[in-house]
Amino acid sequence: MKVFISVDMEGISGLVRWPDVSPTGIDFERNRQLMTQDANAAIEGAFQGGATEVVVEENHGVEDLCVLRMDTIDERCTVIRGAGRPGATTMAGLDADAGVVMLIGHHGRAGSYPGIMAHTISYTAFKLVSLAGQPIGEPDFFAIRAGELGVPVGLVSGDQIVAEQVQARCPWADTVIVKEAFGRESGEVIPPVRARPMIEEAAARTVRRALAGEYQPLDVRGPYEFEVQLRQPAGDAMRANLDGLEGFDLAEDTRVVVTAPDMDLGFRRVAYLGYANQPGVTKH
Ligand SMILES: [Zn+2]
Repeated sequence: MKVFISVDMEGISGLVRWPDVSPTGIDFERNRQLMTQDANAAIEGAFQGGATEVVVEENHGVEDLCVLRMDTIDERCTVIRGAGRPGATTMAGLDADAGVVMLIGHHGRAGSYPGIMAHTISYTAFKLVSLAGQPIGEPDFFAIRAGELGVPVGLVSGDQIVAEQVQARCPWADTVIVKEAFGRESGEVIPPVRARPMIEEAAARTVRRALAGEYQPLDVRGPYEFEVQLRQPAGDAMRANLDGLEGFDLAEDTRVVVTAPDMDLGFRRVAYLGYANQPGVTKH
């Protein structure tokens, strides 16, 4: 079975603050290593559980989506990294051949409190992202896109908030709560050296359960209508960019309605709004 592992940074064991996940923060090299070690725990568990192939995809949006350390990542996987990916951006490597999706180091959605570094796609640009009137986070995009391809989400690691949110949509999913959020940048963490065996064990169980057919892909189909609440009113550049672009309706100066036939394009269109304030940038 091919296993797809999406790795983000905000939900990595031991990390609680924005400077922990920023190249300009403290100890970024060490924190990259912590991220890589959580990923390695999931990779190790996946192979123990019966995976024949593991594809890891980087989802943390700094340094052009190149944060995992290639010198210490488990040599048995392949890694999708770098910006400008085709398809559903940070799900570019997810296809119908995968048997299960794991979300490692993920975080709660925008509007969550508490929730360690909770946001949806862009903390600085988006106040809230909703689908059909319900607030959604990155795991929702992933679970729905995976469902469109017939692939279930089986595991999430992060704080208790992302765990609850994934289980609300995918009640069968295993969770590894590596930290308890107290606020937006505080919490009680399990030391990574103890969190990693928890991730490994859960990943092995997840693949075994996937092989046993215990998971259901989500049965959600487009077309989709999203609402994105912007933190800053749309400026001249964003207005000019969105004018005439299919799938975008600037309903108010801080509210954009985005429509898409499927989640591949839906994710791209919502993500585009995070940089649509740059003059002349209409590619998404
Ligand atoms: Zn991230």
